[in-house]
Amino acid sequence: MLNIVIFGAPGSGKGTQSDRLISKYGLHHISTGEVLRDHIARGTELGRIADSYISKGQLIPDDLMIRVLEHVLDSNPELTSKGVIFDGFPRTIDQAKALKKMLASRGSRVHAVVGLEVPEDELIRRMINRGKETGRADDNPDTIRKRLVVYHDQTSPLRDYYIGEGKYHGIDGSGDMDEIFERIHRSLHDRVPELAESDAE
Ligand code: AMP
Repeated sequence: MLNIVIFGAPGSGKGTQSDRLISKYGLHHISTGEVLRDHIARGTELGRIADSYISKGQLIPDDLMIRVLEHVLDSNPELTSKGVIFDGFPRTIDQAKALKKMLASRGSRVHAVVGLEVPEDELIRRMINRGKETGRADDNPDTIRKRLVVYHDQTSPLRDYYIGEGKYHGIDGSGDMDEIFERIHRSLHDRVPELAESDAE
């Protein structure tokens, strides 16, 4: 099992680069944002609660979010066989600690954290475009501003947390999507032995 966390501000390209990592390494993908949007679309109780936070640009409370992720892992055992790209989780230090425990209890760990580093004006431009193209409700100027504040306050401290764990791969996330993926691939290939092995297969 090989687990990668893809980390970065909203609009940093986590979803796009996750798709490329999945096809390259055959990993499974868990996007907590997608899990929540699916609940909202199906009108579940969780969806109703999630929507009340997402529409304000706030994070879902840690205890609830951790239970949601645990449920996803428990109900899809195949996810933990080959490994997972965690996209959008963790978003707080408490979530990172919970993820560490969840994986340890399954005999595994986070192998690498890919941090997509993108200047704020580019983040805003990308989210505005995505909002126009996909109709995603929280990609509007007011909510984007709030999400960036939340990112700086609650999520960006994770960078130092994972640097401290020796797992952080900071990647220049600006520019062409294929070039960004090449940077990720080189960094992981050089520094994560388990990935270099699966690369060779
Ligand atoms: P994303 O698709 O990852 O940008 O997530 C969209 C929204 O879902 C975020 O702005 C949060 O409101 C919520 N969300 C997704 N993942 C998490 C998480 N790990 N913790 C708290 N809230 C989350």
